[in-house]
Amino acid sequence: MAALGLQFRIKRLLATSTVLGRLSRASSTSQTFAEVLRLPQRQLTKLVYPLQELQQHLVPDTMPDLHLKTFDPSLEDITRADSVFAASPRNRIDYLSSAERLDHAPALSLPEVCFIGRSNVGKSSLLKALFSLAPDVEVRVSKKPGHTKKMNFFKVGKYFTLVDMPGYGYRAPEDFVDMVETYLKERRNLKRTFLLVDSVVGITKTDNIAIEMCEEFGLPYVMVLTKIDKSSKGHLLKQVLQIQKFVNTQTQGCFPQLFPVSVVTYSGIHLLKCFIANITGSLK
Ligand code: GDP
Repeated sequence: MAALGLQFRIKRLLATSTVLGRLSRASSTSQTFAEVLRLPQRQLTKLVYPLQELQQHLVPDTMPDLHLKTFDPSLEDITRADSVFAASPRNRIDYLSSAERLDHAPALSLPEVCFIGRSNVGKSSLLKALFSLAPDVEVRVSKKPGHTKKMNFFKVGKYFTLVDMPGYGYRAPEDFVDMVETYLKERRNLKRTFLLVDSVVGITKTDNIAIEMCEEFGLPYVMVLTKIDKSSKGHLLKQVLQIQKFVNTQTQGCFPQLFPVSVVTYSGIHLLKCFIANITGSLK
C-alpha cells in the first residue's frame, strides 16, 4: 500500500532529481555546520535531517512507524557537537592505539562508542567523514585477507573515545567473533554501539549475527544506514520502512530512530555527530 503511494510521488520526484542531485553534490563540500547553516532551508533539511526529507514522500499512515524526531536536537546543539569533532590545540583528536584483544585495549575512564559493521558497509568512509574536521586523524584500513584485524581506538578531546571494530563477514577470522564479543560484553565504559547497515542491501544474515549479539548482551545500540546517495528515493524509502519495522518489532536494545547517512552528500553526518556528542555527555 505504502509502496503504491510512494511510486506516485516518486515520479514527480524523479523529474527534479537532476537538480536535487546537483544541489546535494554542491552541499557535500560543506564541512562545518556554520557553512551548512547558510544553506537554503530545503537544502539544510535534506542535508541535516535526511529522514525528515524522506518523510515528505510517504503516505501519511506510514509515518507513525517512523521515529523521525525521537532525537531532535536544536541547530545550536548541532553546532556545538560540530566543535566537539573539530580538532584544535585545545581539542586534540588523535588515534590512540590498536588492540587485538580487550586486555590490550587502553584502559580509559572516558565514555566510549564503537562502530561495527560487515566489510564494505562503508565504516572507514563514515569514520573519515566524522573526523573530517580533524584532518590529522588517520582511519586505518586493513582489508587484505589474512591480515590480523584489530580494534582501533581514537580519543576525541576530553570527551570520549571512539572504537573502530574490524569489519565482519564470511572472511572474518574465527577469533574475530571472540574479539568483538568479548569487547561488547566486557567493555565497561562502552556507552553505545553503532551498527552499520548498507541501505542499498538492507539487513543481511551477517548483520543479524551482530544484532543478535547486541540483543543478547542487552547493549544499547543504534542502526546507521550507510550509502543513502546510492539508491533511488523509492528504493531507499522501501529499505528504511523495512528496517524501521524490523527495529520496532524485533529488537529491544536498538534506538528507535534510524540514522541514514551518506559520505558523498554528507547527509545525516551532522545529526549523527550530535547524537554521539549527546550520549557521551560532550554537550554539557
Ligand atoms: P568498510 O569496509 O566498511 O570500511 O567500507 P569502506 O568505507 O571502505 O567503503 C566500501 C565502499 O563503499 C568504498 O568503495 C566506498 O567508496 C563506498 N562508500 C562508502 N560510503 C559510501 C557512501 O556514502 N556513498 C557511496 N556512494 N559510496 C560509499
